Formats: sequence, structure tokens, C-alpha cells
Amino acid sequence: MKVPFIDLKRAHAPLKSELLDAFERTIDHGGYCLGPDVAAFEEAFARTQGVSRCVGVGSGTEALHLVATAMGLGPGDEVIVPAFSFVATAWFAQYVGARLVFADIDPVSYTLDPVGIEALITDKTKAIVVTHLYGQAANMDPIVKLARSNGIAVVEDAAQAHLAMYRGDPVGEIGDAGVFSFYPTKNLGGLGEGGCVVSPNSEMLDQIEILRAHGSKERYLNHFVGYNNRMEGLQAAALNVKLPHLAEKTRRRQAIASAYLSGIRQPEIQLPQILDWGESVYHMFIIQHSERDRLKTYLAEKGIGSDIVYPYPLHLQPCFAFLGYKEGDFPHSESLARRCLSLPIIPELTDDEVEYVIETLNTYQ
Ligand SMILES: *Cc1c(COP(=O)(O)O)cnc(C)c1O
Repeated sequence: MKVPFIDLKRAHAPLKSELLDAFERTIDHGGYCLGPDVAAFEEAFARTQGVSRCVGVGSGTEALHLVATAMGLGPGDEVIVPAFSFVATAWFAQYVGARLVFADIDPVSYTLDPVGIEALITDKTKAIVVTHLYGQAANMDPIVKLARSNGIAVVEDAAQAHLAMYRGDPVGEIGDAGVFSFYPTKNLGGLGEGGCVVSPNSEMLDQIEILRAHGSKERYLNHFVGYNNRMEGLQAAALNVKLPHLAEKTRRRQAIASAYLSGIRQPEIQLPQILDWGESVYHMFIIQHSERDRLKTYLAEKGIGSDIVYPYPLHLQPCFAFLGYKEGDFPHSESLARRCLSLPIIPELTDDEVEYVIETLNTYQ
């Protein structure tokens, strides 16, 4: 048996004719950059995610960039960022020339640890970025409380966390702004790049709408230095076909996770925990093992795809060497990078495939 880690063809095969019909409508109406499909998607995604409004942009990375720009961050400002995340979380600060201040994750949720942030806050700290990593909401209450009492913004990187909840509230709008990615492998993905910004602050979203289209409110009159970061009509058309399936696909990810959690009996494997502030939407199902690379090879020999997400913590990335961090600075991030392994959890897996993954892990020695 071959169990894919990612299989976009399998995900899209049942939707192919619907996708082609949607693309045909877009081709005919001509709204290729923004346009009616994007407007419809912004409305529908906001409703599905349970937030007030959504602004579609070119990617999750650019969504982060535009939020940092709209917040007016720049040289002289400091931004606290988890040392374990996808690199784009750190681009939030780097693209606008603000100083990155890394902080460790907590070893249970794998998200930014509120303990320890306080010591990093200076009078230059302007924002704290949390990542709802692997689909697990970060521990928002203590982080938001600390930020509010210090006049600091909280930005939610929800690129992996569509439909995730924190104590009953949908992620994205708990802080001052949130971003989602619609990269093809995300829990909701287009057939190319895409992203969006959400925020309880409508003025900020108005500003992002201007920034994503060259800083222009009125055609050819440019009030601000802007960017070309519009969501594309064809991507929105694909997302409009896929969005109605998101809730069901998320439940399927959670069902596969439950099967793994109850089925995997291997004392050497550390399984993820279900946290009282909200169940993960399992963008990734992460196990930890002291001989992670050997386990990965074994799974590959048995036809099971897996991935290391991520092998390097951000503070040890060559691109951030100029910040002067060193090994040992963030032990939880470093340990996770050494030990983590991502099991297949795409919603299109069959029950037999899930069972095969469990049996294969249980017979590992
Ligand atoms: C994917 C991802 C991004 C970037 O989104 P893109 O749409 O690929 O630019 C940012 N942060 C996290 C945590 C991600 O997983």
C-alpha cells in the first residue's frame, strides 16, 4: 500500500468538472484580478470562518507584509515572533525593516509560550505575532492580555488554521489582525497562490484594500506606496468551489487524528495532546521520536509518506544569522525541530490507509 503525504490530484479529481465550469465562467466575465469571484469569496470565507470581513490578497506571505505595512511598522520597532514557525511568520517583521525578537514555543501546544514574552517587551515592541501552528490555536488569552496592557498589537498567523477555534472564538479576529493562506496544500487551498487578511478593525482592512492595489483609492491617483497583491479571480473561483467542503474536510482530518491518537501504541512515539482551549484542525499531525530520521526512512520503505515540518527553528536559519542567536537559545523549538515528524492526514485518506499507517507504526522496532 502507498499512503501519500500530500495528494492534490486526489483532492481535486472529484471536483474537476465543477472547477472547470467555474473557470469557464471567470474566463467569460473577465474579472481576473479581484473581480466578482474574489468579492464572493471574501464574503463567503468571512461567513464560514465566523469573522466580520476578509480582504483577499496574493498569498499568506503578502497578507503578513500588508498587515505590517498597514500597522506602520518599520525600522526602530521590535516584533516578537515564535522561534518555531514557517519562515513567512518572520517575514512579517523583516520585510518592513522592524527588528525580529524571537521567543520560544511551549512544548505542549507548539505555539508561542506566553511565559517568557514579558521579559522581551521593551518600549520599542510594537507587535506580537502568534502562529496557530499545525492547526492548533495558540494560547491567546494571556498573550492578548499582556499585549493590551503594554499597548502592543497581536497578529495571528492563521495560515494553517482555517476554522480553528480558541475557547469558542474563531481564530483570526481575536487579536488586532489575522492572516490566512490558500496555498494549495493548506486546509483550504486554491490551485495556485492566495491569502487574505481579517481584522476586527475595519479601517485597517480599508487600508489593506488600498495597499494591495498600488496604494490607490482612485484610479491612477496613488495616496500611498502600495503593492500589487490582489487575489486572482481564477483562484477565488477555485476557492468558491472548495469552501463549501471545508467543514466536512476539517471533520475528516479530526477523525483521522482521533484514529491515530487511539490507535498508535508505541511507547517511543510522543503524540500530540488535545488542549482544553480548542481542538486542532490538524493541518499537520505531528509525532515526536528520538530517532525521527530512522522512523521516517522506515515509513518510506513501507510506502508511507511523511515530512519534517520544520527541520530548522527560525533563530538558527542562515538568513537570520545577523540577529546573533545561537543554538540553545530556544530549547523547545530546537527539540521539536530535531524530533518532529508529520504523518499523512489529508482528508482524502481512506480508512484502510489510516489503519495501515497505525499498524506500520505499531510494528516498528
Ligand atoms: C503557508 C504559511 C504562510 C505563508 O502563506 P503563503 O500563502 O504560502 O504565502 C505563512 N505562515 C504559515 C504558518 C504558513 O504555514
